[in-house]
Amino acid sequence: MKKHSNILILLAFSTVVFFLACTKDPEIPVNKIVYKTKNVVVVVVDGARYTETWGLPSRQFIPNRNAMLQDGVMCSAFFNNGYCFTNAGHSAITTGVYQFINNSGLELPQHPSYFQYWLKSTGRSSSEAWIVATKDKLAILSDCLEPKWQGQFRPNTDCGVAGLGTGYSEDSTTFMKAKNIFVTDHPRLMLINFKQPDQAGHMNDSAAYLQGIVDTDNYIYQLWQHLQMDVFYRDKTTLIVTNDHGRHTAGHLDGFVSHTDNCDGCKHIEFFGIGPDFKENYICNKPYDQIDIASTVAELMGFSMPTSNGKVIRDIFR
Ligand SMILES: [Zn+2]
Ligand SMILES: [Zn+2]
Repeated sequence: MKKHSNILILLAFSTVVFFLACTKDPEIPVNKIVYKTKNVVVVVVDGARYTETWGLPSRQFIPNRNAMLQDGVMCSAFFNNGYCFTNAGHSAITTGVYQFINNSGLELPQHPSYFQYWLKSTGRSSSEAWIVATKDKLAILSDCLEPKWQGQFRPNTDCGVAGLGTGYSEDSTTFMKAKNIFVTDHPRLMLINFKQPDQAGHMNDSAAYLQGIVDTDNYIYQLWQHLQMDVFYRDKTTLIVTNDHGRHTAGHLDGFVSHTDNCDGCKHIEFFGIGPDFKENYICNKPYDQIDIASTVAELMGFSMPTSNGKVIRDIFR
């Protein structure tokens, strides 16, 4: 009798062990792809119009990105299909949701960003996710209004002169700050904003606008070289370059000076990508959307982002 009950206990124990083994890690789908990418850097060149970047046949203002295309991808039909303002464009990039949002830094995005999703899913420190922006008002990207998320899982920020309400900094300063943070904190997620094409455009200074596109192209090249020299980042990092919005096409009263509406100049933006999981020397002509960046970052970094309305930019993957 004793022997029988021992066997029964053993059987029951084995069943429990078997059941636990089968139900382990229920959140990890069976066929989930593991990418080589372990870090993602998104650079937003503020207000550069497509017709002065990739849309110009000579690509004379972005010679470095044009050369980097040998190892990367470019989407020729990439659009801001939401609101063509700085904070709306940036929050669409980070949250994967188009929303009309105050453009002066007075309103947080409605939904959590890919920074918050990643910090929550990994339990990593906020110093491993950074937002570095020339425009102080972009500090809003580090938080959101969704009650379950507000004030939690926030990335570090260095925006403008010294944070929200302190005014714009200079792109050269932002470039140096970003380089330093790569060394000191080794962030795995970073968003960098450069202001100059936009600011010069608003001042109706076309020479400074074009120079801003040239200078930011140079910063992007130097940042990429810097990452390739660091074993922490080399062959494990994806760089994405995009815009928050373009600028009006000719025919508007104030020409290229502003950006606000649904004209092609405002909506048509850049998508350039380079990294171990993207194709090389590839131009994607299929239409994609600004909100697709959030879902693509989530895919590369292996977390889910249920509130994003974007889709993964599959065509550019190897
Ligand atoms: Zn802008
Ligand atoms: Zn327009």
